[in-house]
Amino acid sequence: MSLKLDGKKLSLEIEEKLKNYIYLNKTTVKRNPGLAVIRIGEDPASGVYVKNKEKACSRVGIESFIFHLKETVEQKEVEQLINKLNLDNNIDGMLLQLPIPKKFDEQKLISFINPEKDVDGLNEKNIGKLVKNESAMRSCTPAGIINLLRSQNIIIEGKNIVVIGRSLLVGKPLSLMLLNLNGTVTMTHSKTINLNKICKEADILIAAAGKPNLVDSSFVKEGAVIIDVGIHRLTSTDKSKTRLCGDVLLEDVIPKVFAYTPVPGGVGPMTVTMLLVNTIFSWQKQFGLSSTLNNLLP
Ligand code: NAD
Repeated sequence: MSLKLDGKKLSLEIEEKLKNYIYLNKTTVKRNPGLAVIRIGEDPASGVYVKNKEKACSRVGIESFIFHLKETVEQKEVEQLINKLNLDNNIDGMLLQLPIPKKFDEQKLISFINPEKDVDGLNEKNIGKLVKNESAMRSCTPAGIINLLRSQNIIIEGKNIVVIGRSLLVGKPLSLMLLNLNGTVTMTHSKTINLNKICKEADILIAAAGKPNLVDSSFVKEGAVIIDVGIHRLTSTDKSKTRLCGDVLLEDVIPKVFAYTPVPGGVGPMTVTMLLVNTIFSWQKQFGLSSTLNNLLP
């Protein structure tokens, strides 16, 4: 039987450690860690994600500060808010909830975030450190995936790993992390020719294309590990029901693989947990606390 890589269970285990870590250290430093979340506009999915982050923070003892700005706000005003939060000693981490409306220069805003507070790991300084394999904040979804693999002692070193997708958010940082851990990594994307043939060589196949059910059993080698990053809400033809699915046609693939991540309950919960880890990482650095978390940041 194939092994389910249970992200929900692992995220709860890590959260328990984070909660204890904050509890043990907050009397010394006299304040809890603080996370600022900037949301612009009314994208409903972003609203749900921000709520989930707020709830996760409160579970472990991180104070969250939500800044919900109207779409009519100017780029300059968002930059000023980021600068203010950069200087705020009660804020250890900060993120811009993506996507933001098209009129904003997203990359410029991310560049304004102090790299020490960039808990999404998207600032070019943190990406640069990832390229150089130096310790820094790491992008949450890729770091969560590495932790899921490690939790089941799935070996990365020397393995053939195929990543589908080359986004700044997932595919690129994930490929770099796997490379830093001595995987033999192939990055693929929408222009890749013979995608399923390439994927079939993978010991570990990671699908982050954002295409529902793209990967079926013809992409998968017997005994491989398959990680599904995609998340899609599908509506039935009569529009009466919705269900979540990923980039992988799981029922077709599961009988063939050694291990897989479910959707939901696989990669998603780990992403939020890594945001908490990054925030605490910044808090412990600011106060020179002893670190028990560094092994969670690949
Ligand atoms: P994106 O749209 O920015 O990038 C998608 C990438 O996939 C691109 O590089 C593109 O070249 C590639 N691609 C698209 N179609 C392809 C195809 N047919 N064959 C091969 N490659 C193809 O998306 P993203 O932000 O990287 O997110 C990818 C998916 O992961 C989305 O479904 C997103 O919702 C999900 N996601 C989930 C989490 C989580 O926590 N579970 C976090 C981030 C993203």
